[in-house]
This record gives sequence, C-alpha cells and structure tokens, in this order.
Amino acid sequence: MIFTLQTNKKTEMIDITPTIARAISSEGITDGFCFVFVPHTTAAVTINENADPDVPEDLRTILEKIVPWEDGYRHLEGNSAAHMKTTLVGSSEVIAVEKGKPVLGTWQSIFLCEFDGPRNRKVVVKFS
Ligand code: ZN
Repeated sequence: MIFTLQTNKKTEMIDITPTIARAISSEGITDGFCFVFVPHTTAAVTINENADPDVPEDLRTILEKIVPWEDGYRHLEGNSAAHMKTTLVGSSEVIAVEKGKPVLGTWQSIFLCEFDGPRNRKVVVKFS
C-alpha cells in the first residue's frame, strides 16, 4: 500500500509509527516483516527515539551541520543538501511484525525525514 502525507517545514522529522501500525492492522498481518520505503530523493526514513522530542530535533540539527544548505554544490536545482541527507539517512526500513504489531524498542519510533519541504510525500508499505 501507498499512503501520502503533507509535510509542513523545510526540514522535519514526522512520526509515522501510528500510520505503519494501522497499515499492519488493516492488512491483517500478524507475523512477518513490514518494509517501509520512501520513493523520494529529498526525503528519507529512519528509526530513533521519540520519547524525548529533542532527539529527532537534535538529529535534524546535526544533519544541518554535516550537510549545510549551501556549500558550493553543482546541482542546479539548489537542493543538493536535501539529496545528500537522503542518502545519509536512507530510503527504507524493515520492521518485524509480531502479534499484529510492529516490533519496536520502548523508545523507538519510525520517522519520515523531510529535507526539502513542505511537500506532499508518499510512503510505500509492503509486507512479507
Ligand atoms: Zn534536486
């Protein structure tokens, strides 16, 4: 299945765990794997802490330091930093499913990482 969401900022980390959990439930998956793929070149997906909202904010901030928005890039569209960050973070995650729920650590959430928003984004979810 594919779901869409509207991002609101230039860069942001959006918790998509509830949406993934709903997808697992609606597909009736009780045991297996959930593959989450972001089909974009300036957005990514990652798993990290969300209990403390400062963690995704720190991640966003450190990526800005590692890959500044302007740094003499060649790409004429002007959003090379977003492309670089997408490669650093990655476009997919695989999450185990048990008893109809995603298996995540106590503090873990699944984030869509927006690096060149606001935009309308797609997230592809497949099961096996
Ligand atoms: Zn571009």
